[in-house]
Amino acid sequence: MKIRILGGGREVGRAAVAVRSDSRYLLLDYGINFDEKDIPQLPLHIRPSELAAVAVSHAHLDHIGALPMLYTSFKIPAVMTRVTKELSKIMLSDFLKISGYYLPYEQVDIEVMLDSTLDLYYDSEVRFGDYNIKLVNAGHIPGSAMIYVEIGGAKILYTGDINTIDTRLVKGAFMDGLEADVLITEGTYGNSIHPKREEIEKEFIESVKEVIDEGGNVLIPAFSLGRSQEVLLLLYERLRWANVYYDGMIRVINDILVSHPEYLNRYDLLVRALKEFRMVRSSSERRKIVKSRGNIIVSSAGMLKGGPAVYYLKKLSSDPSNSIFLVSYQGPTTPGRLLLEDGCYTENGESVKARVQWFDFSSHAGADGLIRLARSIRGLSKVILVHSEEETGMIFKEKLQEHLTDVDIYFPVNGDNLLIDIS
Ligand SMILES: [Zn+2]
Ligand SMILES: [Zn+2]
Repeated sequence: MKIRILGGGREVGRAAVAVRSDSRYLLLDYGINFDEKDIPQLPLHIRPSELAAVAVSHAHLDHIGALPMLYTSFKIPAVMTRVTKELSKIMLSDFLKISGYYLPYEQVDIEVMLDSTLDLYYDSEVRFGDYNIKLVNAGHIPGSAMIYVEIGGAKILYTGDINTIDTRLVKGAFMDGLEADVLITEGTYGNSIHPKREEIEKEFIESVKEVIDEGGNVLIPAFSLGRSQEVLLLLYERLRWANVYYDGMIRVINDILVSHPEYLNRYDLLVRALKEFRMVRSSSERRKIVKSRGNIIVSSAGMLKGGPAVYYLKKLSSDPSNSIFLVSYQGPTTPGRLLLEDGCYTENGESVKARVQWFDFSSHAGADGLIRLARSIRGLSKVILVHSEEETGMIFKEKLQEHLTDVDIYFPVNGDNLLIDIS
């Protein structure tokens, strides 16, 4: 069996792995990354004619952002969950609007890709040529899937992005009776263990309450798909009397999510939260919010790279009674990372007087969850570690090896061709 690493080799994001037993490849995700100038970085090239099919783990751009470029002159069958398919349409069209100049595809290619997609619910199976494919819940965001592939007698399990704990938004990854020869696993947080979720939530809620009780406003920049809804659910459970607003692309995403209760953990709670909290519909409403006091605003984008969060940040950051609470991963060189490390959001910019704090609401498993998953898999003989920064991955590889003494562990770079012998 041959495994080609087209992206996600010693980096977080740009997930793209191709597996092959004989003539044609099965592609697992085809995502992008951004460089320090915010220019999209594509995965390595693969000829569409070499592909038998594509299987997609979930709708984050670092897993789907490059997919439509394979459809400019070909129609390759693709498989993903139904909600991932609907979310992908929104995510890709929006991405094209913002970064289209750098992308080798157009809206019509997104449509062709979606037309070529078969949607599959968890635990059901489909066959493309030699490949038998099954999707199981990955617990990361609604619709996220681990991909099970059977080729000949060999079994591969690709995690995509995975979370092993239950959140209000989604149930944790399915981990019962997993069986595979090869595990291709993410390792975003392979070198750390997240603090207990209940403790983070307690600290977060107390901090938010403290700010609004004293008449300040709280801005919570959050990814529009996943983190925003999780934060709204938490706020609804604990502070439902507060003035909570949500703004940005989250509004369209919410519409898709609530039409798929089968992919949500606390569906009823989400419906109520979205109804009772206020959706911001216009810029005049935005102006009113920043002029009043005691508000909580959940808005995209999570790393402050764009969206209405940037407007709120500009209006709220000079007042020390306000707070900016970051709840998402902050990529290197993003305004969010700058804000945390240097206290301003542009280089040599004015320093921010509002309180700034980061809370670990990760939707990725920590080292303990990833190791638990790997150890639970029967028949495992190889692990391929992807979606992990170099330093993190090296530490994780060593840790994993201590637990899996008989297993070969690889930590490849982009462009590597691994020849895997399963006998
Ligand atoms: Zn990812
Ligand atoms: Zn993701």
